[in-house]
Amino acid sequence: MEKILIIGCKKTMNDVCIACSRCMVGFNRREGEFSRYKEKDAELLGILNCGDCPGASIVPRLTQLNLWNKPMEEIPTIVHIAPCIVDHCEYRDVLLEKIKAKAGVDVVLGTHPYIPDQVFV
Ligand code: SF4
Repeated sequence: MEKILIIGCKKTMNDVCIACSRCMVGFNRREGEFSRYKEKDAELLGILNCGDCPGASIVPRLTQLNLWNKPMEEIPTIVHIAPCIVDHCEYRDVLLEKIKAKAGVDVVLGTHPYIPDQVFV
């Protein structure tokens, strides 16, 4: 069973991508980067925000999530980085470096595929 943790941009999660619904729907439909779970057991464990610019607190946040979830035996087996970080974060490289160094599980770039090409068409 894969246990998926999504990491997204705090500012985007709070103010733009309301309710993180595109990531949730993408996972439920197994679309975008979640299509790899079509034939697999997989659960969404959580959606963690980065902790705000400049990404200094991502490792303590991962550590805290581990402390929180360990008693439930719900530890991520794979991390997905949301498009709000992959495509838009100016601190993306630093964040990815820290997450890849410290997560201890595979890190996949991307989640849902529902990025509109143009706004008015
Ligand atoms: S560090 Fe990047 S992902 Fe986090 S709030 Fe700032 S812009 Fe968003």
